[in-house]
Amino acid sequence: MPEGIIVKALSGYYYVQDENGGEPVQCRGRGIFKKRGESPLVGDRVAYSETDNGEGTVEAIHSRSSQLVRPPVANADLAVLVFSVVRPELNLGLLDKFLVHIEHVGLDALIVFTKLDRIPDGEEGERILRDVAEAEALYSSIGYQVLKTSAHRGEGLDELRAALAGHINVLAGQSGVGKSSLVNALVPGLRLETNEISDKLGRGKHTTRHVELILLAGGGYMADTPGFSQLDFNELGIDEIGTCFREFAERSSSCKFRGCTHTHEPQCAVLEAKEQGLIAVSRYDNYVAFMTEWKENKRRY
Ligand code: GDP
Ligand code: ZN
Repeated sequence: MPEGIIVKALSGYYYVQDENGGEPVQCRGRGIFKKRGESPLVGDRVAYSETDNGEGTVEAIHSRSSQLVRPPVANADLAVLVFSVVRPELNLGLLDKFLVHIEHVGLDALIVFTKLDRIPDGEEGERILRDVAEAEALYSSIGYQVLKTSAHRGEGLDELRAALAGHINVLAGQSGVGKSSLVNALVPGLRLETNEISDKLGRGKHTTRHVELILLAGGGYMADTPGFSQLDFNELGIDEIGTCFREFAERSSSCKFRGCTHTHEPQCAVLEAKEQGLIAVSRYDNYVAFMTEWKENKRRY
């Protein structure tokens, strides 16, 4: 039985594409899915049978490695976290917040600093370059891959292409940072609307939109709708925040107390690492800020 991946779902049809490319086959789902309360999702790896009219039927859905709600995509495994270095400028608080959400759903993250061509000359530019280099060193040391790109100058695109290959990728990042421009630069012939025209990719969280997977040269897919737009902490327990900071999670088993909050406890491995300069102050401060924000959210509801 042929196998493929659902790249689009529309009006009761699932469009199943061979992972090597080719025209997607328009399929119906088996009636049994509905009875079992199963629903095929974009990103699902499926087996399908071909019917006489050139269409097909999705016969089986392979088990999922992940399932995102926004956008509704199965099997995504890499979040491509895009931050511009100017307009808007780098914001490590927001970067850490995105990372918490990405870690929470169990995806790996690739950090992409973009619009490098826009760094001005002179002192201002030197400061930005220093900040970018520092951030690159920090996040690499935590274990994230960091790339520097310019969609306009085509810089870093080969590295980006290589990093995305073989994954189901979901974009993340504020509106206007250059997500659609990067995808357009990567996929020849693709013209996702950029922010000059509309806010398509960075659309508000209440707009429902059909998500589609775009096949990338070199294998792998990119979801055309970004995820992680809702960055409140409603879906996390307070004790989960620390586990989403990789370099804290690695050390927390050495904390003296189980359930250590890494704030005031004696013999806390995280606090000790911070004192020794092994955990960045910015990361620690953001952790404390997120805990505070979590508590404030709680009080409000
Ligand atoms: P998105 O909202 O994250 O998808 O951002 P867009 O891709 O729509 O880009 C927002 C704005 O930034 C547009 O005006 C783009 O032309 C501009 N932009 C995107 N990437 C770059 C880049 O690499 N260099 C420069 N100079 N501008 C860029
Ligand atoms: Zn601790």
